[in-house]
Amino acid sequence: MKLRGNFSKNKMFKIYQLLKNWFIKGKTLIICRQKFIYLWLITITLISFSSNVLTENIENKLPPLQTHPLPPELQSWQSDNPDNYFTEIKPHLVGYLLWLDFPVKVYLESPPTNLPESSRLKFQKWQEIAEKAIAVWHPYLPLIIVREEKEADILIYRRQPKLEAKLNPETGLYDLPRAKAATTTIKFYLSKTQPQKLQHQMIIEVNPNQTDDYLLVNITHELGHGLGIWGHSPEKSDIMYYSHTRDIPQISVRDINTLKLIYQQPTRIGGKLTMNNEKQ
Ligand SMILES: [Zn+2]
Repeated sequence: MKLRGNFSKNKMFKIYQLLKNWFIKGKTLIICRQKFIYLWLITITLISFSSNVLTENIENKLPPLQTHPLPPELQSWQSDNPDNYFTEIKPHLVGYLLWLDFPVKVYLESPPTNLPESSRLKFQKWQEIAEKAIAVWHPYLPLIIVREEKEADILIYRRQPKLEAKLNPETGLYDLPRAKAATTTIKFYLSKTQPQKLQHQMIIEVNPNQTDDYLLVNITHELGHGLGIWGHSPEKSDIMYYSHTRDIPQISVRDINTLKLIYQQPTRIGGKLTMNNEKQ
């Protein structure tokens, strides 16, 4: 359910606005504890300012935004119902998170060789469920399972997602992390080709301690993020609904309509990096 990314422009802006409002209201630093929090936030804001400059510099140096032809499977997708939740999907600093080469290569974690028989069977069951989730998306964006991690675009691991404490700008304190059933994290890298191209990889971590039904829903949901739906639906009947429900959602017309709209948007992914990439 949880998304993680490398850049967070909105968060920086929010911290800046928060602090600006305090100064406008003329709040003074009287109580030591508050002073500590305020000073801490000032420090964070200063870092954020420099990061903001850095973000703009990065943006100038990134490849330009480009649109690409729709993959044939999405091109041929038609529905009488045009309903979607595209407005919920906010573009990333690099634009929309699209795959450009198909089939998208998916790596599934394999059981270690020394695993006892009963554990190995459980692991294989997990793999079967993950394969089912891959099959759900395959008619809309072709996917293929690969054996090597280094070949993969999307990597799915059978493990408890890492817990990370997050700074809450409202309180100045760290929120205690909650256990997550599954997470998707995006990573960027440069291709080894010349000129170098901006590429991405999606890493999905799935807690295996769930019922088979939830496991299937969670992996299908995370694959939706991995394929570019970098946000959530407000409707319970969509696979990309942001929370667990008692009903088990299926992939919906709204999910695919949204995916099709996303793949019509521009991205910097796949663009070439040159020394003279000025702002477009
Ligand atoms: Zn999610």
